Amino acid sequence: MQDFNYHTHTYRCGHASGDDEEYILAAIKAGYKTLGFADHAPYKDYPLPSSHMDISMFDEYVDSISILKEKYKDQIDIKIGLESEYYKANHDERVMLHDRLDYLILGQHFLDPEASVSFFKNNSEEEILEYGKLVCEALDTGLFMYLAHPDVFMSKQENFTKACVDVARMIASKCVDLDIPVELNVHNVRKGKHLISNKEEYFYPNKSFWTIMSEYPIKVLLGIDAHKPEDLLDFDAIEKSLNEVSDLNLNFITKPLI
Ligand SMILES: [Zn+2]
Ligand SMILES: [Zn+2]
Repeated sequence: MQDFNYHTHTYRCGHASGDDEEYILAAIKAGYKTLGFADHAPYKDYPLPSSHMDISMFDEYVDSISILKEKYKDQIDIKIGLESEYYKANHDERVMLHDRLDYLILGQHFLDPEASVSFFKNNSEEEILEYGKLVCEALDTGLFMYLAHPDVFMSKQENFTKACVDVARMIASKCVDLDIPVELNVHNVRKGKHLISNKEEYFYPNKSFWTIMSEYPIKVLLGIDAHKPEDLLDFDAIEKSLNEVSDLNLNFITKPLI
């Protein structure tokens, strides 16, 4: 089992549960050697209480994890990060947060800070292409350690369209050029498979998407995307996700990134 996970949320984002210490105890029990917290990043001018933490919670988040990092240092290596979207308007704010953390991961759930376009719906071809462009622009900033759930735009998607193919290629090329790893996210398999272009597939990890990704020499890592402590002990979700791509010869990294 991959013994590091950089994708752990906390209750502060408004849609996860359990206290910080419970996540650490679950991670130790599961056998993790490195646990990174990457709760949903705050946006000063765009508070969305059920999507990401409020900016007023940020200092307490860093303090709480720092105390636990010290407390459990002999048992597990704790890192402090955030999962963040990228928007041009918030670039300086991202730089500021990045400077105070071990890492940021890119999780582009929305097209704009107001969240007027979400990627958790059946998106138009234009929206999907915008997703791809924004992700590539974000990765070019050098702020992000890896790209979380690159296939998140497949959520509720009815078809694997031309734009989906183009975006998969766009993202894969960018990640190869910049040597940025891509996450195989295990969170969504719990929702089962769906009919997409008449094939039974998960929204993500999406088989059609990863089949294209596998044509490129990208580095891949697993992300648990834990929203409750028990998620860290859900080995079944990991197995289902890995089974989905087992014939694709993906290049999984075996050592922690930091
Ligand atoms: Zn979340
Ligand atoms: Zn995410």
